[in-house]
Amino acid sequence: MVDLEWSEPLDSGGRSDLYYEVQCSECVNGAPCIPCSDLSFEPSRSQKLTERKVRVLGLRPRVTYTFRVLALNGVSERSGATAVGEELNVTTDRDLPLPVSRIHQVAVSESTLTIRWTPPTPPQSPNRGNILDYEVKYFEKDHEKPLTMFLKTPGNEGRLVGLQTGTAYVVQVRARTEAGYGAFSGETYFQTLPYGPEKAQPQVELIAGTAGVGAILVLVVIIIAVVCVRKHGSHKEAEYCDKPGQYLIGHNTKLYIDPFTYEDPNEAVREFAKEIDVSYVKIEEVIGAGEFGEVCRGRLKVPGKKENYVAIKTLKGGYTERQRREFLSEASIMGQFHHPNIIHLEGVITNNCPVMIITEYMENGALDSFLRTNDGQFTPIQLVGMLRGIASGMRYLAEMNYVHRDLAARNILVNSNLVCKVSDFGLSRFLQEGSTDPTYTSCLGGKIPIRWTAPEAIAFRKFTSASDVWGYGIVMWEVMSFGERPYWDMSNQDVINAIEQDYRLPAPPDCPSALHQLMLDCWQRDRAARPRFAEIVSALDKLIRNPASLKITAREQPGLSQQPLLDQRTPHYSSFATVSDWLHAIKMGRYEEGFRNAGFTTFSRVRQITAEDLLRMGITLAGHQKKILSSLQQIIPSDKLSIGSAPCY
Ligand code: AMP
Repeated sequence: MVDLEWSEPLDSGGRSDLYYEVQCSECVNGAPCIPCSDLSFEPSRSQKLTERKVRVLGLRPRVTYTFRVLALNGVSERSGATAVGEELNVTTDRDLPLPVSRIHQVAVSESTLTIRWTPPTPPQSPNRGNILDYEVKYFEKDHEKPLTMFLKTPGNEGRLVGLQTGTAYVVQVRARTEAGYGAFSGETYFQTLPYGPEKAQPQVELIAGTAGVGAILVLVVIIIAVVCVRKHGSHKEAEYCDKPGQYLIGHNTKLYIDPFTYEDPNEAVREFAKEIDVSYVKIEEVIGAGEFGEVCRGRLKVPGKKENYVAIKTLKGGYTERQRREFLSEASIMGQFHHPNIIHLEGVITNNCPVMIITEYMENGALDSFLRTNDGQFTPIQLVGMLRGIASGMRYLAEMNYVHRDLAARNILVNSNLVCKVSDFGLSRFLQEGSTDPTYTSCLGGKIPIRWTAPEAIAFRKFTSASDVWGYGIVMWEVMSFGERPYWDMSNQDVINAIEQDYRLPAPPDCPSALHQLMLDCWQRDRAARPRFAEIVSALDKLIRNPASLKITAREQPGLSQQPLLDQRTPHYSSFATVSDWLHAIKMGRYEEGFRNAGFTTFSRVRQITAEDLLRMGITLAGHQKKILSSLQQIIPSDKLSIGSAPCY
C-alpha cells in the first residue's frame, strides 16, 4: 500500500468548493502504461475527495504506479481547460526474498532446538528490500498426522520450545520483506535429546497427575482454541493455526499458568522447576538483597554438564509457610518461560535449608544501576539493542498471556554481552503487607510502582499487556537517560495528576526523536492505541537496520511531538516575588493583564484558580491551560484539583 499526501493548490480559483481526484496508471517492464486495476482507495474514489490524503491498497510487487492528483472545483468541468495536478511515480519492491540456506543446529535439549540459518543470498539488495522477519515451520517427522507449528523471529535464529523428547522434527524457514514471503527452504531434520538422567517425568504426565491440574489443562486448551477461532477471518489466522484443531502449540506458544491456581502451590513448583541437589551448588559471594533474603553468586556443577556461574536467591530463616509459597512462586512462574531475553531458571532447592532459587548469572546486574555507573558510555545503537532485547522478551511474555506488572529497568538484568533479560516475577511486592520499598505505593487492592504504571492500572487495576507496554515506554526513557529516575523528584501524586492532564516525559538529552515518539506511543491514554510488543520489536529492528535514523534528535527536529511534555525545569512559584514574574517564567506572560483584571494578583488568589477561571480570562488554548494548571500543581494541594482520583497514598 502507499499513503499519498499533498499540499493545497497555490490558487483555489477564488472558490471554497475545492476537491481532488486521484488518477492512477501502472507500467510494467517498459510496456505502455494502462489504467490501474484491482486497487482500492481509502477514501473511495467514488466520493469527492476533500482531504489532502489518500491510502491506496492492493499494490503488486515490481510495478511502477503513476499517481496524478488533480485539484478541481465546481467550475473545473465548465472551464474547458485541462485540470492542473501533480504526478508521482511509485515503484513497489521488485522481488520476494530468495530462500534461506544452510539451516543448522546451535543448541538442543530434551524439549528445545535452537537453529540458525544463512540469510537469503544475494545479501539484501535494494531491489529485494530489507528482511523484516523469518518464519520457521516445523513438525514431527515421523508422525502420521503431524501438527504444523510456526515461529516468527526477527533474526536468522530461532528457538523451538515445547518439543517432544527424543523426536525428529522437519524444519523449514522462509524470509519476509515488504513484498511478502519468499519460498520456504528445503526440509532439514533435527532431533531433540532423549531423557537425561535427572530429568523429571514428562510434563503432560505430571499435568494429568491431579484432577485439579487436569481441569486447568482443559481450560488452557479451550482458551487457546478461542484465541485461534477469534483469529479466523483475519490475515494473521493462517500464520498461527495451519489447520483447524491445531491450537495447542501453534505459533510456538504455551499459555502461562498462574501457580496460585494450583490447590497446592508446591505442585506448581514441582511441575515447573527442577529440584537441584544441594551438593551441586557452591555459594561464593553476596551480590544483592532480595525481597526474602540475600542474593548470591555461586557455581552450579551438575554431573556430566559444564560448570556454570549462577545467581542464588535465598529465603532467610524464620519464614512462614505463606512466605515460602510466595518466594517459590517466582520459580514456578520463571520455570514456564524459555526465551533468550527472559531470565533462565536453573532450578530450586526446597528440601534443604535455606530454600533457594537458582538462575543463570547476569554479570552486569540490574539495568538501572548498570546504566548509572556507565553514564554516557553506550552509543544509541547499543542502547536500542538492549531495548530490542527487552521488547523481544516482553513479546514472548505477552504471547504467553503473562502480564508482568512491574516492568522497570531495576527488574531487567544485563549479562557480560549486554544482553538484557526480563526478571523479577515475584508477586510479593504487590501484596499489601509486603515490603516497605517506597517504589511500591499502597493503592486499593495492592501495591503499585506508580511511575512505571499505566493510568488505567493505577485507577482501576486494569493490568494487561497494554499496561506492560506503558511500563516498557518508561524503561525506554530510563535506558535513553542512562538510569535517570522517571519524573525526577516529582511526588507520586504529581505524576498521576500530570499524566491525567496528558503531560508526558520529554525526550532525554540526545535521545533520537524516533525513540521518543515510540515512548509517546507507549504512553497513549487509550490502551488499545498503544503498540503491541511485536510492533515495538519491528520498529526497533527498523531503526537498527537504518542507524542514520537514530541521528535525528529533538535538537534537529524541534516540536516533533504533539504531546505536551513535562518540563523538569519549570521553576517553583516560591522562587518568584510576583505573579507577573511567575507568568513570564513559565512563558505565559501574555496573560498577565488577564490575571490582573480578574484579580489574580497574589499567590494566595492564584492558588484557587480553576479551569473555568482560565476560560473566563480568555485562555482557551488547551496547551496553555495545561501549562498553567500543571505549574500550579506545585502550589495547589492535589486534593483541590478535580483531576486524578486514584486511591493511592
Ligand atoms: P531481585 O530480588 O531479583 O530484585 O534481586 C536483587 C538484586 O540481586 C538485583 O537487583 C541484582 O542486583 C541481583 N541479582 C538478582 N538476580 C541476579 C542474577 N541472575 N544475576 C546477577 N545479579 C542478580
